[in-house]
Amino acid sequence: MNVKFDKETKKALKAEKDKCTGCRICMKNCPMLEQYCISPKQLLSKIDEDSMVDPIIPFSCASCGYCTQVCPEEVNLNKVFLKLRMSIVEMNDGIPQSINNKAVKFHQKSSFSKLFTTKIMGLQDNQARRVFFPGCSLTAYSPKLVMRTYNYLRKKVPNVGIMVNCCGKPTYSMGDMNTFKKYYSTVQKTFNTSFIEEVIVACQNCYHTISENSPNQKVISLWEMIAEVGIPDDKVGKGCSIDAVFAIHDPCPTRKNSEIHDSVRKITQKLDLNIKEMEFSRESTLCCGSGGMIGVTNKELALKQMKKRVNQTDEAYILSYCQECVESMKQGGKKSVHLLDFLFNDDMYFTKKFFQKNINTYKKWSNRYIAKVKVEKIKT
Ligand code: SF4
Ligand code: SF4
Repeated sequence: MNVKFDKETKKALKAEKDKCTGCRICMKNCPMLEQYCISPKQLLSKIDEDSMVDPIIPFSCASCGYCTQVCPEEVNLNKVFLKLRMSIVEMNDGIPQSINNKAVKFHQKSSFSKLFTTKIMGLQDNQARRVFFPGCSLTAYSPKLVMRTYNYLRKKVPNVGIMVNCCGKPTYSMGDMNTFKKYYSTVQKTFNTSFIEEVIVACQNCYHTISENSPNQKVISLWEMIAEVGIPDDKVGKGCSIDAVFAIHDPCPTRKNSEIHDSVRKITQKLDLNIKEMEFSRESTLCCGSGGMIGVTNKELALKQMKKRVNQTDEAYILSYCQECVESMKQGGKKSVHLLDFLFNDDMYFTKKFFQKNINTYKKWSNRYIAKVKVEKIKT
């Protein structure tokens, strides 16, 4: 069933429609446009004319920003579809029933519960204050890796604490801004009460969300930090003995952050890993298939994009620095590994299996609980 949206969204939609020439350059690598239209111009004109939209259209945009990256007119479809999501939620008393939101709701409610969150641990008083924010996907993958990363940061960076929490991106992506604000205010309150000046993030979605919503905190990616302080001594050159080539997949939320792309390459060079650039990389990277929560809202489309992305390289292994992207590459059917595995996962070097195993949902939640307990035991 088509639904209404507000005037402000209509105005934003019209502005992008007017800029679009219908050249279709953006369509080749967009996860969703081919399925829903002949061209963005035609799609936006129809939505404008009807003043109504089928919710599956905005809820299928992966928010990857590829269209704007390649568009000669700098049309921002991501902005239009996100605004449509927000307006639909606002005007229809929540996310329409036709859109699967149950899993997101459960994930977010649990993620912000006491069972899976901590205050900031490990800080000393009266010094410049930083916090390491590993994010939920990495914590769900491996509490051990999170703790090893934090212990390394503690040795190299003065006065750094750690906080286990979610940044609320899934709720933001669904366009449910009231709920997002409620969740994010708890994160901000934790930063404020501990006088945090700098947040070190491991997840590219957290990087984006915290940068946008915490103007008084400096946000720095873990990759910039590690490139600056150096990799662990025992890992320098360790990659040269690995008999595999790793294609690098850059996550789309930080497509514009060339300093992050450079830092990641610097780390892989220090490791002496045999890496290969994908055709679409850095600022031109493509969605892994889970952007914009399409893995929940449009599973079929998401899986298609995951398969497409992994098959854009002939290499059998894909390396990324976002755990969500690693999960997508696995679902797409290739062996995938996180950059942190090469830095702190000694078990991987021992077994000589340079890829992540699949983990079921129950294990992921139990890992998140383990991480919470471990973090709460940290002393200053
Ligand atoms: S590349 Fe830009 S101008 Fe061309 S169809 Fe896509 S949005 Fe329109
Ligand atoms: S943001 Fe990504 S998924 Fe959305 S329209 Fe642009 S290219 Fe397509």
